[in-house]
Amino acid sequence: MTSPRRKPLVAGNWKMHRTGPEAVELIQQLRDGYTAGRAEVMVAPPFTALEAASRALDGSWIALGAQNVHWEAQGAFTGEISAGMLKALGCAYVIVGHSERRHLFGETDSWVSKKVRAVLHAGMRPVVCIGETLAERDGGRTLEVCASQLNGSLAGVAVEEMTHVVLAYEPVWAIGTGRNATPAQAQEVHAHVREQLVRLFGRPVGESVRILYGGSVKADNAVELLGQADVDGALVGGASLKAQEFLAIVAAAG
Ligand code: PEP
Repeated sequence: MTSPRRKPLVAGNWKMHRTGPEAVELIQQLRDGYTAGRAEVMVAPPFTALEAASRALDGSWIALGAQNVHWEAQGAFTGEISAGMLKALGCAYVIVGHSERRHLFGETDSWVSKKVRAVLHAGMRPVVCIGETLAERDGGRTLEVCASQLNGSLAGVAVEEMTHVVLAYEPVWAIGTGRNATPAQAQEVHAHVREQLVRLFGRPVGESVRILYGGSVKADNAVELLGQADVDGALVGGASLKAQEFLAIVAAAG
């Protein structure tokens, strides 16, 4: 059971999967299979499916998210998408600083912080991802790496803006590998991240910010992971592409 103080969020990161019509089909399956619970739900299709997804989600309990954003409002940035464009499509959330963006596309903490602020200024909620590599974990540097990414990624964010921010702890070695962090490993990092939030933004904010766990979350490990005191939901990759499995994770969040 997630903390009664924070509304759980289960977010599906569809990555580079699903065309517009395929997104509509998956959303219809989610709408058909859902029974109301305490958790908020969000799906993040690729940019090209956002408009179709937005229409398919109309009047539903599922929020729309995007997987990335550029920090500038407009201009000569070929291939990029602004926060205003995402907002206009009906996005409520934007995933920022996913480890695939950091490791495959060279995204830095400084970029992530600019994106976080652009998302906030456009009136949406950033889901800010942090997490250590296997080498960093094996080197005993997990908490230090996560604290440093947290600091850098939230640079320039005001205390009053933090109520709109969601964090996601996603150990890089657990993403798409089928190897999830143990509930104890997740709780240790989440508690540490919360302490850092309290130190940076004060106790009321630190205790109200939702921290999601991501990394091979499945229907069969969700109850245990989401049962940790500081785990406030899940960021789900592969399993979010299967309606029944994703809905089982949503149900596990309460
Ligand atoms: C993710 O993409 O954020 C993720 C956690 O992927 P997976 O659930 O497939 O490990």
